[in-house]
Amino acid sequence: MASPTPEQEPKLPDPSREPKPGHTTFRDELGSEMVDLLVGPENELFRVHKKLSTENVARFPEDDPAAFDLLIKWIYSTSKRHIRDLDAVQIEGEEGHTEASWDAINFYSLAEKCCLPELQDTTMNVLARYHRMADELPSPSFVCRAYARTSAGLSLSRYCTKSIYWVLDEGINNGWPTEEVQKLFQDHPTFSMDYINLQRTKSACDPRKSDRCSFHVHGSKEPFPGISPRKRKSGDGAGQNVSKRQ
Ligand SMILES: [Zn+2]
Repeated sequence: MASPTPEQEPKLPDPSREPKPGHTTFRDELGSEMVDLLVGPENELFRVHKKLSTENVARFPEDDPAAFDLLIKWIYSTSKRHIRDLDAVQIEGEEGHTEASWDAINFYSLAEKCCLPELQDTTMNVLARYHRMADELPSPSFVCRAYARTSAGLSLSRYCTKSIYWVLDEGINNGWPTEEVQKLFQDHPTFSMDYINLQRTKSACDPRKSDRCSFHVHGSKEPFPGISPRKRKSGDGAGQNVSKRQ
């Protein structure tokens, strides 16, 4: 019997090969040099890759270390559309009362300062979702801080003005005492102006039920990254009976 031609010989498996050291694309991109960021009045230390900062040491005395922590996590994250959710945390010694797990105003203010509009918009999504979940709306002191720490006319201040307008229109007193609301109008003329303009042009409605893009800073022709217009919808399931506040 004739021996098989080379074409007829069955293909035998090759032995596996040991891998060579691979490329470390992410590390190469970031480099190994680190810089120190000192945040808050207590100079809390954050060490980040130098490629993220032009300084060897940078100080941020007025910023909130907890907000910075979220920002650094977002910068290193592979998904730039998500940040940690706001959760309702039980307040110690106050049974049945909760507070948000991190400060949305401080974080929004930091995103604005760093010129990160996408992060501002993401923060608004997270804040409105938290308010729907916890059935809350901004208290007078929340609105005071929002106007003091962020630019007027931005999405957070618009959300706050719309909230107070709706609360007053609905006659909700519990949590929004007249004296505190009056102080808000008195201490923040920009808020007063925004409020009057809103009342003259729009009917009151629950801001948690508004289209999410109405509280975004991106232009009307730029859809929120990652969300197709078909998938976009108004807020869902917001309760009418607001009984708590942040
Ligand atoms: Zn949007």
